[in-house]
Order: sequence, then C-alpha cells, then structure tokens
Amino acid sequence: MKIMPELPEVQTIVSELNRKLKKRTIKSVTVNAPKMISMGPHTVSNIRVADNGKVALFKKMLVGRRITAVKRRAKLIIINLSRPSDALGTPSPFLGEGNKVRASLSLLVHLKMTGQFIFEDDRLREKTGGKYRMFNNLTAPPVKLPGKHTHVIFEFTDGSHLYFNDIRKFGYMKLVRDDEIDQVKELLEYGPEPLDNEFTIGAFEAAASKAPMGKIKQVLMNPKVVAGIGNIYSDEILFHAGVRPTRRVSSLSDKELSAVYKWIKSVLTKAIKAKGSSVGDFVRTDGSWGQMGKYHFVYGRKGQKCKKCGTIIQSVKLNGRTGSFCPNCQK
Ligand SMILES: [Zn+2]
Repeated sequence: MKIMPELPEVQTIVSELNRKLKKRTIKSVTVNAPKMISMGPHTVSNIRVADNGKVALFKKMLVGRRITAVKRRAKLIIINLSRPSDALGTPSPFLGEGNKVRASLSLLVHLKMTGQFIFEDDRLREKTGGKYRMFNNLTAPPVKLPGKHTHVIFEFTDGSHLYFNDIRKFGYMKLVRDDEIDQVKELLEYGPEPLDNEFTIGAFEAAASKAPMGKIKQVLMNPKVVAGIGNIYSDEILFHAGVRPTRRVSSLSDKELSAVYKWIKSVLTKAIKAKGSSVGDFVRTDGSWGQMGKYHFVYGRKGQKCKKCGTIIQSVKLNGRTGSFCPNCQK
C-alpha cells in the first residue's frame, strides 16, 4: 500500500523540530546512505550517486552551524542554518575552486513514503531506554537508535541527536545556499498552501477549473492545485463535503465546490491538532503516534459501517489509488 505523510504529518514534524532544534549547534554528522544526500538546487534524481567526496563536503558544510528555524513548504521540510562559525567558511561546491561558502544555508528534507525524524536528548532517552516503535505495529519490537534504517545522524554540541530513518530510502536531504533557494525546482512547482489566507475560495475555484474533466479526488491530490493533500485527507475532505471521489470538477455545483473548499481547511486543521495520522510509518519526533486515525470517517474503512449513517463504506480505484466513500452520505 502506498502511504505517504501528508501536510498534517509533515507540519507535526516541523513544529516539533522547530521547538526542539532551534539554537542547537551541529557538532558532527554521520551519513550511512550517501545516495540520500545531495547539494545544490538541482532536482534530486531517482538514480542517485553514492559519492564519498560529497559526504565529506556535506559534513564540512554543516558542522559548526546553528539551526535558526525549521519550516515547511508543501511536504518539504526546510531546516534553516546560520552562517558558519569559522570566518573562512567552507570551499564551495557551487562556486568553483577557491570560493568559500559563508552564506546561510538550508537543508531541505523530503520524507517521501517512510522517512522519519527522531530527536533524542537525555530526557527522552531516559524515558524510552533509547528504543522506539518505528512501524506503527504493536507486534514489531521497539528499535534501538541508531538502527539499521538510520541513514543520517546529527549530533549537537549538547549531546542530543537527530536521527533520520527511512526503510525504503526514497527520502532525501538537499543542502542549498539561501540565496539559491528560489531556484529549487520542487519549491517553484508547488501549488498554494491550503491553510494560508491567500488560499481563498476564488483561488481554489480558479485552480480546480483548470482541470474541469478531472475527478475531484485526483484534483485535490494534485500538488499544483493545492499543496500537501494525499490519499488520506482527500478521502476525508470529500466525505465531509458529501461529494464522491469520482465526481468530475465540472459536475460540481457552486455549493459542493465551496463545501470541498471549507472542509480542506477544517480537516487539515483538525489533523494538525491531532498530530497527524499514524498510518504507514509515520511517527512523531519522540516516537509517539499521531491520533488523527481515530477521527477518520472513510479512509482505510472499506467494508465497515459509516460512522454517520451505518451504510457500508465502499472503495473505488482511481489511477492506481484507492478512494473510500460512503455511498449514502456522498453524492
Ligand atoms: Zn454514511
């Protein structure tokens, strides 16, 4: 099953890391999977290179820098880093021989399907014994970190650690200078942030009307129409809006389209409050699970009774993805 963290899960990680990492200084970096890191604004290819020279430079550019903030754009995590403490800076991989990177940098991280961050300080290690349930499966034994799926480790000057785990290794880390961040292709391509004030009903209608023949679930999951919505939240949004996932955009009444818009905001807001849904391998940065799964009405509930009307939840295939819906509550 293809399950990816969506906006609420990534926002949960970002809010927690922003609180926990801010003002910490990187003491050392360990990279166990060189193919998961890259440098510069260019797109990270699926065919990735394991280059040890790249690892040495990646570490050199990070050590000694302080984390100034952790932010989010769509499903990308943006870790802002200070200028280097060493006044000379680090030789630049972007500017050619003899140039130094004195600029502030950002580390962009995409969790893709199974990426996870665990931040461990003395307090958490004491509480957990350094072991975490990483797979949302109560029968799977807890894992001691760093484990075999820990690919990058950041150690901070106060002795705390940030572990980046990823079973499938589809996730990536990309280090860029802040003055070139506007050249990062994925950042340029993302559609509007659904929880921003600029994402008005007019903006949503304009974006959706570009694909009048598109099915509403697929349109909601198109990151160019609106950022950060995937299989889980598109199902939930459409349930509350009373619209079946297979409806074409052109067939929706104004009332239906505005209901979809309203529920985009309200489902995502509720999911952020519940710290995301722990389906797939999503865990919070202390290894605990998000609670939004309890509030799912249709996602993952095929064959069970609708929580509103008791009708059996059905599913439908859409371009290889499964949409679940209540045939009574959704028209
Ligand atoms: Zn129902």
